[in-house]
Amino acid sequence: MKESIQATWNKRPLLISGPCSAETEEQVLETAQRLANTGKVDVLRAGIWKPRTKPGMFEGIGVKGLPWLMQAKKITGLPTAVEVATGKHVEVALQFDVDILWIGARTTVNPFSVQEVADALRGTNVPVLVKNPINPDLELWSGAIERLQKVGVNDIGMIHRGFSNYGNTEFRNAPMWHLPIEMKRRYPEMLLICDPSHICGNRHMLQSIAQKSIDLDFGGLMLESHIDPDNAWSDAKQQVTPERLAEIFEALVWRAENTTELEFVTALATLREQINHIDDELLTLIGQRMKIADKIGIYKRDNNVTILQTNRWNEILDRAVNKGEQLGLSKEFIIRYFDAVHLESISHQNKVMYDK
Ligand code: PEP
Ligand code: MN
Repeated sequence: MKESIQATWNKRPLLISGPCSAETEEQVLETAQRLANTGKVDVLRAGIWKPRTKPGMFEGIGVKGLPWLMQAKKITGLPTAVEVATGKHVEVALQFDVDILWIGARTTVNPFSVQEVADALRGTNVPVLVKNPINPDLELWSGAIERLQKVGVNDIGMIHRGFSNYGNTEFRNAPMWHLPIEMKRRYPEMLLICDPSHICGNRHMLQSIAQKSIDLDFGGLMLESHIDPDNAWSDAKQQVTPERLAEIFEALVWRAENTTELEFVTALATLREQINHIDDELLTLIGQRMKIADKIGIYKRDNNVTILQTNRWNEILDRAVNKGEQLGLSKEFIIRYFDAVHLESISHQNKVMYDK
């Protein structure tokens, strides 16, 4: 990585902002200046090539916008970040001294495109952020990271921007938090930032989604900002002014993954001890439950009765959901939990039936 970007890349939280798209020279320069004035932004983003779902929408200003970004960096000192989707994009962006590249969600889904971008990155030393693919497929996300690693890209980060779905939902792209959490488990050392703008698709939820990502120990944020959000040429509904962006950052509660504060450490150790104890008991009980399922399996085998009995399964679920409700456990959790237990019971009974 170039020395000039090293400190920024390693800063936590890393805060990236700028317009969805570069539109005019004035818009880029004024956005950059007003973002720099807030003193809260580390990197200026702007889309130069816009992969739009449908033709006829604004598809980006193209190469013409790159000198504007160079100028914005010169004036404000903010390093720049641009989305790349082809080998040519990489080549031109680097000619114009873009500091950080990112691969967009519509590109991460396509291994041919990711490979083309990766090939163009061979031998360069620019940091690259990889957005999750539009569909909830972690292997594609991991695959894109591996393609970059294979060509020797050393500085890789991930951006969580949510997953697309059919129909009108609360979010433009559902966050499905368990997916970025799993990526964090797979790549514990890798930077993971959240892009609330593309998750929300509107302004009013940005704050709460940004906070949620911080609570999950994400390493930073990418948020779109525009000098005149309502008249932005793309993603108008989700953009905010640089000043509003600063207010959002200001209102966030930043949390550390840990602290050495004695009272916290002692209380946490005691409570975790209790949790370990309860987990042990739960596992012992589940083990006992499976032994009973084995016994039932023997009866089913000897009497030629099916393993799955739908009525009984519905009865178990109804009982559990009711009981769970009284205990403050969500229906969704109970169903997920009992599905897992039930599948394990079925696999136990299958063993009993066929492994004589
Ligand atoms: C963007 O960042 O403007 C963009 C196109 O995002 P995504 O790839 O997440 O849709
Ligand atoms: Mn956008």
